[in-house]
Amino acid sequence: MPSFQPDLLFSGGRVLSGVALNVRDGVVDSVGSPSGGPVPLRGRAVLPGLVSAHSHAFQRAIRGRTEHRAHPLEAAGSPGGRAEPAGRSIGDDFWTWREAMYAAAERLSPEDLFAVSKFCFLEMARAGVTAVGEFHYLHRDREGRPYADPNELDLAVARAASEVGLRIVLLRVAYARGGLKRFVEGSVDEYLRNLDALSKHVPVGAAPHSVRACPAEWIRDISNEAARRGWVLHLHVSEQPKEVEQCRAEHGTTPPLLLERLGALTDRTTCVHGVHLDRDDIAAIGRARATVCACPTTERNLGDGVVRADKLLTAGARLCVGSDSEVQLDPLEDARQLEYGLRLVELQRAVLDPEHAGVGGLGAKLYGIASEGGMRSLGLPGGALRPGEPADFIVVDLDDPSIAGVRAEDLMANVTFCLERTAILDTYVGGERLALDFAGALPTFREAMRRLWS
Ligand SMILES: [Zn+2]
Repeated sequence: MPSFQPDLLFSGGRVLSGVALNVRDGVVDSVGSPSGGPVPLRGRAVLPGLVSAHSHAFQRAIRGRTEHRAHPLEAAGSPGGRAEPAGRSIGDDFWTWREAMYAAAERLSPEDLFAVSKFCFLEMARAGVTAVGEFHYLHRDREGRPYADPNELDLAVARAASEVGLRIVLLRVAYARGGLKRFVEGSVDEYLRNLDALSKHVPVGAAPHSVRACPAEWIRDISNEAARRGWVLHLHVSEQPKEVEQCRAEHGTTPPLLLERLGALTDRTTCVHGVHLDRDDIAAIGRARATVCACPTTERNLGDGVVRADKLLTAGARLCVGSDSEVQLDPLEDARQLEYGLRLVELQRAVLDPEHAGVGGLGAKLYGIASEGGMRSLGLPGGALRPGEPADFIVVDLDDPSIAGVRAEDLMANVTFCLERTAILDTYVGGERLALDFAGALPTFREAMRRLWS
């Protein structure tokens, strides 16, 4: 039984000095006096692994290809100009980004998907991620035909995570309308049959894509089955104003209130994004003790808006973070951006610290959102390195220039607001150090990118 002995250990939400993390069979056995083979970690801190609770690994392939204006910004109604329902004129935005994403999704072979996903998961692990919720909606071939095994692409992504050593929950997506032929399956029965088959190979969650892509009956039936099976339920919710307006037009209400009406808003539900929420939406999500998965590095990249983490927490909602479009793979950047977005809106500092939790308090709170919050959203135990939890953790160099000089009381503020990736020395899942073989993965990743974009 290894006994990890860092200078500082963040366990159970507290920073402890000179305490050992004793691990048995991949699980935290105890926190306290060393009781196994010593693994000395002088000058190091050990912190819980981070979680990307919402990922689309294949989108790693379009990184850097959409950071330019491709559409004219014209007045609503003028030739070539596209107008939102509200009449605002728009140029490049979420919807034009989606065209680029669809172009990549159209072309990916199973081999490309595996190569790109594996590289993406390696990059996640290097950033301290130990568990990922993969919201996967590529199911069929380019012509829209099921593969011989309808889960071929889902299993390719699961295998990529497993080769890297990450925990994965496959949030297999139900897509009924709109989108590409590759996303869409014929019925709820077909979707649930495939999800059930997949659940025999990898932990799963149910994921009706959104109220835009699934009719109400799909969401209701899938949510009921998820409750019966003990699966978590993830959906994109209110990422864009247009999505809310379409929902109002079709259902006479907003996405969160529709979910509540369908019995699909519970403490096992994760609403991904939750950017465009009104007071009633926030109250409903809070009442249900549901989770909102903010993806701030993507939301700022796509021009989605700012998640009102302050109002959501006050209402009783829970939070986690996701890397979503994979534009940056750094859950700590997502965690700090949750707070920074609110600072820019409110012209205040420490908006998410109404508790006056002291020097390291806000950092610890945001870190907990990115670790324990993510595990809860995925239906997994752990995220805080308490005894009995999985031994998923990162080893941080306390002398890295980005955090050098740190003390126990300001450790979590330094880690959450200032730490650079160079400070993360190792990532452990289930007590095992991940090898992170970038050199081995790079040739097939490069080849997949060449095929995709040549
Ligand atoms: Zn997403």
